[in-house]
Amino acid sequence: MSPALQTLRRVFGFEAFRGAQEEIVEHVVGGGDALVLMPTGGGKSMCYQLPALLRPGVAVVVSPLIALMQDQVAALRQAGVRAAFLNSSLEREAATEVENDLRGQRLDLVYVAPERLLTERFLALLDGIADNGGLALFAIDEAHCVSQWGHDFRPEYIQLAILHRRWPSVPRIALTATADQQTRREIIERLGLDAARVFVASFDRPNIRYSVVERNNPRRQLIDFLATHRGEAGIVYCLSRRKVDETAEWLARQGIAALPYHAGLEQTIRQTNQQRFQREDGIVMVATIAFGMGIDKPDVRFVAHLDLPKSLEAYYQETGRAGRDGEPAEAWMTYGLNDVVIHRMRIDESVAGDEQKRIEHGKLDALLAWCETMQCRRRVLLSYFGEESVACGNCDTCLEPPESWDGSIAAQKAMSAALRTEQRFGAGHLIDILRGKTTEKVLQFGHDRLPTFAAGADLDEAAWRSVFRQLLAAGLLRADAEAYGALRLTDAARPVLKGEQALNLRRAATRRRVRGKESAPVLRHPGAETLLDAADQELFEALRLWRAETARTQGVPAYVILHDRSLREIASRRPTDITELLDIPGIGAAKADRYAEALLRLVA
Ligand code: ADP
Ligand code: ZN
Repeated sequence: MSPALQTLRRVFGFEAFRGAQEEIVEHVVGGGDALVLMPTGGGKSMCYQLPALLRPGVAVVVSPLIALMQDQVAALRQAGVRAAFLNSSLEREAATEVENDLRGQRLDLVYVAPERLLTERFLALLDGIADNGGLALFAIDEAHCVSQWGHDFRPEYIQLAILHRRWPSVPRIALTATADQQTRREIIERLGLDAARVFVASFDRPNIRYSVVERNNPRRQLIDFLATHRGEAGIVYCLSRRKVDETAEWLARQGIAALPYHAGLEQTIRQTNQQRFQREDGIVMVATIAFGMGIDKPDVRFVAHLDLPKSLEAYYQETGRAGRDGEPAEAWMTYGLNDVVIHRMRIDESVAGDEQKRIEHGKLDALLAWCETMQCRRRVLLSYFGEESVACGNCDTCLEPPESWDGSIAAQKAMSAALRTEQRFGAGHLIDILRGKTTEKVLQFGHDRLPTFAAGADLDEAAWRSVFRQLLAAGLLRADAEAYGALRLTDAARPVLKGEQALNLRRAATRRRVRGKESAPVLRHPGAETLLDAADQELFEALRLWRAETARTQGVPAYVILHDRSLREIASRRPTDITELLDIPGIGAAKADRYAEALLRLVA
């Protein structure tokens, strides 16, 4: 057995490496530079934590996420690793102590904020250590922060090139979950990583199940969805601050542990809510996208979108916060006609130049096509990022393939309703005309005398909304921002209108789902553990209570003590002694030492 694998098992309690981890670890242990591109939850930390233990000296980890260093270090200490952090949140005395430990070579890893690392004082301290051969490696986490074009740009990151100039023989490993070519080139260039080996993992997140539902009764739909995740932590994204506040309040009234988060909240409230989400079990965070970078909670079980995100890239990022621990997680979204109209108009109304608008419309097209797709959602998502894959079996379109129907005639009726009313009305009014409803507005404009009046009585309202939505998504209709969202035909509509081109549409899910099915526990994807039976579930709950208590006493997040996966395995395997306990994933020597007594007592 290789020393790397031995350490992985003994210290971290993991049975085997994931993906390219072993290759990366061997490469860095051998003194090579590396650039690691791996999705969130892919297991990047292990790529520098193991070399830190396997090479002599201390590993210096640069991270911009000050708020998270503490938790990361706490997790390492639980595993018996000598780790510490240095940033502005530390009291002077505590910082001095860490520096002394560094000088005395009593640390395996030290996490440092970039601005701290770059001080002359700290660099000089590292010089002293390097002279004694005490620098194991540099790890540059969130390496995309060097990119001036990205959202997370940190000017100090550019200066990190100094590390190589000052200590050329110390290996460096840069890591990021941002995969695009441009960012990759910038990282290599700015950090002087030309000689680094580049490791690119698949960006698939197989444990995340994707699904999109047509929005008809959003609150009911949300509650039904949350019922399948009782007691679990998750994020509910909304577009506006107001909707965040209202939804959080409403969920709280329904007895769900929901908290709001958006940029309009007072700093202290935002911080408290984020802390509670990070540290407590089972908080549902209702948030705008202001809640993002800096979430490092491995056991987020779901991400729900009540509104359409901005693009597929944004969607991938936002849903990627679920299931970092590799356990089954869900990405769920409600989607409707309004989303399409609002997003189109938002782009048209923005002050961006024409070229920028063209790009944004293109991105929206891709997102809408993904929403409306009848193919495997994961396949479409990955192919957008340039990755080939096969149907996944773990998304809604794979599990319940949608039906399609020939919507050519319906589309023609919809378009002619728009044309006959001089393209001055929105979908609601056009649907009233098609369905033959004599509303006040219909009568006022004499639209009950149009040939299209009642021409679509064969389809119900929901079906018509679905038709209009798909025409908008496919770019055959366009909402006019200057005319309050009036629908206009585009050039692409002509062939369909003239009957020269058939149009296949997705069937609207009009039939209500069987109730029992909606509240059933989330299905597990192939390869994941089976569900716990009732007795095991009870033990699992007891273990969770114990974990919450233990975490509170130690002042660390619950997952730092043990992950859900470990608790679930304990509940189903019921270890009777310390050897069996060591077989549980996530339990290494240090944790077994510390918690065996309590755990075995709970199992007995
Ligand atoms: P990233 O930084 O890439 O988002 P992390 O390093 O936080 O991901 O790892 C994600 C999760 O996977 C963590 O909970 C970690 O403990 C777990 N993990 C990492 N490597 C392995 C492995 N080889 N076997 C089992 N679990 C692992
Ligand atoms: Zn699929």
